[in-house]
Amino acid sequence: MTSIGFIGLGHMGGPMAANLVKAGYTVRGFDLSQALLEQARQTGVIPCASLAETVDAVDTVITMLPAGKHVLSVWEELVVSVPSGTLLIDCSTVDIDSARKAHAMAAAENCPSLDAPVSGGTGGAAAGTLTFMIGGHENVFAKGQPIFAAMGKRIIHCGGATAGQAAKICNNMILGISMIAVGEAFVLGEKLGLTHQALFDVASVSSGQCWSLTTYCPVPGPVPTSPANNDYQPGFAGALMLKDLKLSQEAAAATGATTPLGAKATELYRLFNELGNADKDFSGIINLLREKSGG
Ligand code: NAD
Repeated sequence: MTSIGFIGLGHMGGPMAANLVKAGYTVRGFDLSQALLEQARQTGVIPCASLAETVDAVDTVITMLPAGKHVLSVWEELVVSVPSGTLLIDCSTVDIDSARKAHAMAAAENCPSLDAPVSGGTGGAAAGTLTFMIGGHENVFAKGQPIFAAMGKRIIHCGGATAGQAAKICNNMILGISMIAVGEAFVLGEKLGLTHQALFDVASVSSGQCWSLTTYCPVPGPVPTSPANNDYQPGFAGALMLKDLKLSQEAAAATGATTPLGAKATELYRLFNELGNADKDFSGIINLLREKSGG
C-alpha cells in the first residue's frame, strides 16, 4: 500500500494523518513543533526529524500548512528531495498564485500534483468527513482519490491546476457573507421583538435558509451544537475567516471580478479581528453587529 509523507501536523493535519494511519497507510510525519510530533506518534504516525527524512521512500507527500508562503518554501525543498513520479498534494488553503507556482515547481521535477483544500473544520478532520475540492489533471486526481477517501466524505474534482483553491475561496466568500447576513437578521429580529427561535423556525424552512443558519446558527438555542452555545469557541476562528476573505479579494482584484459584499465582509471581519476576536469563532461577528446596533 502507498506510504505517505505528511508535512504540517497542526489542528487539521494531525487528525488527517491519524485517519490515514487508521485506513492502513504507512504515514511519516513532520512538523516544526516537537509537541505535535509527539501527539502524532501516539496516533501511529512515524515522527521524522526533517523534511528529507519524512519523504524517504514514500510515494505520496501531503502538505497541510498555514499559508502560501509556507507551502512554497516547503515545496521548493520537497520537489528536489523526492524521486520524479512522486504524487504531491497540497491540502492547505492558499492564494491562487502560490498554488499555481507549487504546481509549476512539481511539473518541473516531473511530479504529478494536486491542490486539494478542504472544508469541514477540525471536527470533519477528526471524523474523516472532510469535503475535498481538487484541482489537477484527471488522471492524477484518480490516483489520489483513495487517499482522500480515507480522510473525507465528499471528494470533488473541480478542474485543472488551482481549481480546488478557486472553489475553496469562492465557497468561503459565500460563508463569510452569509454569516453576516444571518447575524444581521437576528439583530434586526431582536430589535423588532422577535424571539430567536421564531426567526429560526421561519427562516430555516423558508427562502432565508442557509448553512450559516441551520448548521451554524450564530445565536444560542436553535442549533445546540453551534459555537454560539459554547461562548463562540471555534469551530472556525475569526482569523481563518479573515484569511480566506482576503484571498477572495486578492483573487477578485487579479481577475477583475466585482465582489462588493465580499469586500464589505472582509472589512467587517478585519474589524472583528482587530477588536480581539481572532481566536473566537467567526459566527461571533453577530456580537459586533449587536454592539454597532446599540447593544
Ligand atoms: P495549524 O497552524 O494548526 O497547522 C499548521 C502546521 O504547520 C503547524 O503545526 C506548523 O508548525 C506547521 N508548519 C509550518 N511551517 C512548517 C514547515 N516549514 N515544516 C513543517 N511544518 C510546518 O493550521 P490548521 O488549522 O491545521 O490549518 C492548516 C491549513 O488548513 C490552513 O491553510 C487553513 O487555512 C486550512 N484550513 C483550516 C481549517 C480549520 O478549521 N482549522 C479548516 C479548513 C481549512
